[in-house]
Amino acid sequence: MPKNSSKTSIFLASCMLSIILLSLISSVILYRQIANLQIAPVRTELVSFINEYEYELMRSTMAFSDAYNHHNDTKEYTEFNTWFNMLLSRYQGLERIEKQHSAIFNRLNLRLLKSNLQQIKLLVSRSDIHQTANLQKVKQLFHQLVIETHQFQKQWVFQNESLVLAKQNKTLSSYQNSVVLIFVTFVIGIIMVLYLFSNNKKLLILRRTLEQRVDSRTKELKDSNSHLISEVQERKKTELELMQSQLAAEQAHKKIQYQANFDPLTQLANRTLFLERFKQASVRADRNNTFVALLFLDLDRFKHINDTLGHSIGDKLLQEASSRIQIVLRASDTAARFGGDEFAIVLSDIEELKTVDLIVSRILKSLACPFRLCGNDAFVSASIGITVYPTDGADTETLLRKADSAMYKAKDAGRNNYQFFTQQMDIEANERRLLEAALYKAVEAQEFSLHYQPIIKSKGDGIAGVEALIRWKDETRGYIPPAEFIPLAEEIGLILPIGEWVLKEACSTAAKWVENISEPFIVSVNVSSRQFQKCNMAEQIANILDETGLAAKHLMLEMTEGLLMGDDQQILTQLQEIREMGISLAIDDFGTGYSSLSYLKKYPITTLKIDRSFIQDIDIDSDDDELIKGILSMAKSLNVSVVAEGVETVRQAEFLLENDCLLIQGFHYSKPMPAIEFSQYLQQGTSQAGSEFKFSRERDCA
Ligand code: C2E
Ligand code: CA
Ligand code: CA
Repeated sequence: MPKNSSKTSIFLASCMLSIILLSLISSVILYRQIANLQIAPVRTELVSFINEYEYELMRSTMAFSDAYNHHNDTKEYTEFNTWFNMLLSRYQGLERIEKQHSAIFNRLNLRLLKSNLQQIKLLVSRSDIHQTANLQKVKQLFHQLVIETHQFQKQWVFQNESLVLAKQNKTLSSYQNSVVLIFVTFVIGIIMVLYLFSNNKKLLILRRTLEQRVDSRTKELKDSNSHLISEVQERKKTELELMQSQLAAEQAHKKIQYQANFDPLTQLANRTLFLERFKQASVRADRNNTFVALLFLDLDRFKHINDTLGHSIGDKLLQEASSRIQIVLRASDTAARFGGDEFAIVLSDIEELKTVDLIVSRILKSLACPFRLCGNDAFVSASIGITVYPTDGADTETLLRKADSAMYKAKDAGRNNYQFFTQQMDIEANERRLLEAALYKAVEAQEFSLHYQPIIKSKGDGIAGVEALIRWKDETRGYIPPAEFIPLAEEIGLILPIGEWVLKEACSTAAKWVENISEPFIVSVNVSSRQFQKCNMAEQIANILDETGLAAKHLMLEMTEGLLMGDDQQILTQLQEIREMGISLAIDDFGTGYSSLSYLKKYPITTLKIDRSFIQDIDIDSDDDELIKGILSMAKSLNVSVVAEGVETVRQAEFLLENDCLLIQGFHYSKPMPAIEFSQYLQQGTSQAGSEFKFSRERDCA
C-alpha cells in the first residue's frame, strides 16, 4: 500500500511538473509572439518616424550648408537652428522608441547618432566654426549620419512587406501551436483533476477504511489495554495477597518457631529450648571447667489449687509463679515449663555450689509469698530437686531423672525446700517407679483388701462404727502402707478405680454387719479429693448403696480439708447431695490443715476427726491439749460430732473422756483388722457392751 501511494505521488508530482513546464514554455512562446505581433504597428510608426528623421537630417544638412557657407545671413542661421533642434528632439524620440523596442533598433547605431549630433552641436556653438576644418568636420559628421540612416533604411525600413507578412503567419502558426500546447496542457490538467478526483475518492475510501481499521485497532488496543490494566491490577492484587500471605507465613513461621520453643501460657522456654540451652551451657562448662546446675521444680499444693479454684486461676498462678522465677534468675539462666506445675531451670557457669544454694533459696523465697488470685490469697511453695553437670550425669535425660528424684525427696522432706541429688535418691526413685508399675498390676489383679478399725464410744457403751482402711499385699514386697501408695495412686489417677472398689467393698461388708446390729453403726470410708473432681460421687455412691443394700445412714465419708479449701461449687453440690441422701461427712486429720471453721458452716459436715498428732501430744504439749479442748467445744456448739484418732494410751483416752470427746479410735482399743476378725470383734463388742476392747498388735498386718 505505501509502495503504491509513493508511486502515485511520484507520478502526480511528475505530471504537475510537466504541466508547470508546459505552461512556462507556452507562456514564453506566447509572450514572444505577442511581442512579435507588436512589431507591425511599431514598424509603421517607426517608418514614418525615420522618414521624419531623415527629412529633418536632410534639411539640417542643407540649412547648415546654407548658413555657414553664406556668412552673416541671420535668417539662414535661424533656419539651421530650427531644423537642428528638431533633429535633436527627433533623436530623443528615437532613443525612447529604442528603449521600448530594442529588437527593432538592433541595426541602428544610436550611439553614433548621438555622438555625431553632440559633436555637431559643440562645433556649431564654437566661435571658430567658420574655419574650414570645422566646417568640414561638421559636414563629415552630417554625412556619416546620412549614411548610417540610409543604411538602416535600406536594411530594415525598406524590408519587403511580404517578409513581414510571412513573419506574421509564422507568428500565427506559433499561436496555434501555443493554443494546442495550452489545450494539451488543459487536457492533461483535466485528466489530472479527474485522476486526482478519482484518486482522492479512492484515497478517501482508503482513508475511511484506514480510519475504520485504526478505530477498530484502537478499540482492540484499548480493550487489550484495559485487559492489560485489569491484568496488571489483578497481578498487583495477587502480589499484595502474596505479600500478605508471605507476611502471614512469616508470622506463622515465627509463631510456630515461638511455639516450638516457648510455653504459650507462661512464656517460659519449653522442653526443646531448655534442652538446647542446657547443651550450650554444658559445652561452656566443659570449656571453662565449671558446672551446670539443673533444677527440677514442682509447685506444692498446686494440684489442689487447680482442682479447687479452677483451671483459669491455676493458670494465673502458673503465670505469676513463672514471672517470679524469671525475676530472680540471672540473665544466663533458663527457666522452662515442662507442663502442669513442673518447671526446670538451667543455672549455667556455676563455679561453686553455694551459688546454686543462693539462687534456689531466692526462688523458694519468691514463691513462698502469697499469690493474690481473684481476690483470694493463695499460698504455694515449691519443692526443688537439683542435679549438677557433670558430677551427676552427662546427659539431660539422666540429669532430669535424678533432679526429679531429688525433687520428690524435697517434697517428702516437708515441701518448700530443695534437695541436691544423692545416690540414695536414685535408688528411691527407682523404687517409686517399680512401685508405680506394681500398683498398676495390683489394680488389675485386685490385690487389695480392707482392714477395719473400730470407732469406740468413749463412755464405754460400745462400738459406734468402723473405719475402712485399705491394705495392699504385693507378692514380693509384702504389705505396703497406704501412706506410701495412696499419694502415688492419686498422682497417677489409679485412685479412681481403687476408691470405687474401697467404697463397694466397705459398703457390701458393712451391709452384712448392720443386719445384726440394732445400735446405730457407721462404716467410715476414706475418699480422696481426686475422686470428687473426676467422678460424680453422689451418683456413684447412690449406685453402690443400691448395689450393696447398705442404708445411707450407715455410711460416712472421710475427706481432708484440702477438698473443702477451694470455693468449688461443684464439690459443694456433690457434698450436699450426698448429705441429703443421709450419708455422714467427716473432716479427716482435722487440725493439720487450715482448720477453718468456715468450712463447717458452708459444707454439711457432721464429724471432725482430730488428727493423731494432737492426741499423741496430750499431757506432753499443753498447746495441743488446749487445741483439742477448743475443737471439742466448738464442735459441740456447732452440733458436730468429734472422733479422736490415734488414741494409744489410757491417759489419752481419759483426757478425751474428761473433755467430752465421745468417739475414740486408736491402737489403745484396736488396730485395724481384716473383715472377718472385725466380725468377731463386733460380736464380742456387742456381747460385752461397755467393756474395753483390746487387740494385740500382732493381729494387725500393716
Ligand atoms: P487415716 O485416714 O488418718 O487413717 C488412720 C491411720 O492411722 C491408719 O493408718 C491407721 O492404721 C492409723 N492408726 C489408727 N490408730 C492408730 C494409733 O493409735 N497409732 C498409730 N500410730 N496409728 C494409728 P493406715 O491404715 O496406714 O492409713 C494411712 C492413711 O492412708 C490413712 O490415714 C488414710 O489417709 C489413707 N488411707 C487408708 N485407706 C484408704 C482408703 O481406702 N482410701 C483413701 N483415699 N485413703 C486411705
Ligand atoms: Ca481416715
Ligand atoms: Ca486420720
